[in-house]
Amino acid sequence: MNYEVVIGLEIHVELDTVSKMFCGCSTKFFGEKPNTFTCPVCLGMPGSLPVANEKAIECTAKIGLALNSKIASFTKFDRKNYFYPDMPKDYQISQYDLPICEGGYVDIEMEGLALEGSGSRGYTRRVGITRVHLEEDTGKLTHIGESGRIGGADYSLVDFNRAGVPLVEIVTEPDIRTPDEAKIFVQKLKNIIEHLGVSDCDMEEGSFRCDANISLRPMGSKELGTKSEVKNMNSFRAIQRALVYEIERQRELLRADERVIQETRHWDAANNVTMSLRSKEEAHDYRYFPEPDLVPMELSGEWIEDLKNTLPELPDARKKRFVEAYGLSVYDAELLTSSKTMGDYFEECARAYNDAKKISNWIMGEFSMHLNATNLKIEESAVTPKHLVQLLRLIDKGQISGKMAKDVFKEMFESGKLPKIIVEERGLSQISDEDAIEKIVDMVLEENKKAVEEYGSGKDRALGFLVGQVMRLTKGSANPQLVNEILRKKLT
Ligand code: ADP
Ligand code: MG
Ligand code: ZN
Repeated sequence: MNYEVVIGLEIHVELDTVSKMFCGCSTKFFGEKPNTFTCPVCLGMPGSLPVANEKAIECTAKIGLALNSKIASFTKFDRKNYFYPDMPKDYQISQYDLPICEGGYVDIEMEGLALEGSGSRGYTRRVGITRVHLEEDTGKLTHIGESGRIGGADYSLVDFNRAGVPLVEIVTEPDIRTPDEAKIFVQKLKNIIEHLGVSDCDMEEGSFRCDANISLRPMGSKELGTKSEVKNMNSFRAIQRALVYEIERQRELLRADERVIQETRHWDAANNVTMSLRSKEEAHDYRYFPEPDLVPMELSGEWIEDLKNTLPELPDARKKRFVEAYGLSVYDAELLTSSKTMGDYFEECARAYNDAKKISNWIMGEFSMHLNATNLKIEESAVTPKHLVQLLRLIDKGQISGKMAKDVFKEMFESGKLPKIIVEERGLSQISDEDAIEKIVDMVLEENKKAVEEYGSGKDRALGFLVGQVMRLTKGSANPQLVNEILRKKLT
């Protein structure tokens, strides 16, 4: 039997507001002492009352607008009741039946990948957005003595600094069909939110977290199969690998005529497996009811319209502009807009240097290679736009060759020194003096009569050999363009 994979994602995004969702506590507690950024409200003291953070509501609506959602004219908060030590109130203020945003979609480009059952390469998948709602984050538990075992801790420590941080949940329709699509979707969503500037989206620090729901069904079937939900994936790669694992696990169960159990599973990246965590709770387990301490909210059409007008340029529009304004290929533009910082970096270079294609080639070639090798992001690298532009100018002026530039790049990537300094320190400079090159060319022609003859009888390859000889004698420092010109002139 052939199965179809069905995936739906739930993404949690911590908003980068100044204060928490329902109190005045600061959200800037990273690296600070546990339980020092708290107050009676976020500690759930009896008699304390929440006040909704307007900025957070605005950010949520902005996310909805960016995802083509409908923004509710009437919306409210609800209590989600549960008993767990990470939430001092024993309930979480969330949204149930009237979220701030409903519907919407994100189109993802699956470059170079073939849609199953079709021969054509490259396709667009539209992923529906079910809803975008606003809630508060929980505290953070640290399990002591767990040593990797789930549920095996001796005791747990709780830090309520994070309790009450505004948290947006984005839920997708079960429209995703492969682990690759899931990964690309999450990357694009993160990119959109970074462009909006409403969250720092740090996956490792947990301000951007993804849960994946996955099931299999017989090909052609319309009904959904029983799903499992995988949590604890803190990188794009983890999302993809966990889904690949889960597909195989479920496929084997179904092949053996066994049932998939509806449950929450935990991705164990070290061992490359998902493990059962707990059986899945149902919505009715939470005894949702309207939050009695907060009034419902009416969002006017005018307010929504105004907000729409403040939206910054988003990745799709930026990509289009890169193609039109800089004459880049769609492929290059896609990569250069794949993160906000990458796009910003490129544009800063492009303001100072007018050959966009050259900038793009360096960023995507040499630069990316070094970034990947060191696991750094472009904004973390010592090579600033100023460095890169200066390097390009040195090449243009013929002061260094393309090959030398790669060495200089490597050194500036490692040391952060400006290219001019490196060139000076190393005494690098390309021989662009025609007379000097001519002398060496004459020598090479004299010593390689056979190659000269071959060239004369139409073997173009011989020219490459002769250029190579000149470069060898100059230890790669001759300007290759000049060498070519002079050789050709002499040979004809
Ligand atoms: P739950 O109540 O279990 O949280 P929801 O209906 O809220 O389930 O859906 C949560 C997420 O799971 C959504 O992204 C949805 O698209 C996805 N989903 C729901 N059912 C399935 C299924 N059978 N297979 C895969 N994904 C599913
Ligand atoms: Mg759910
Ligand atoms: Zn507080």
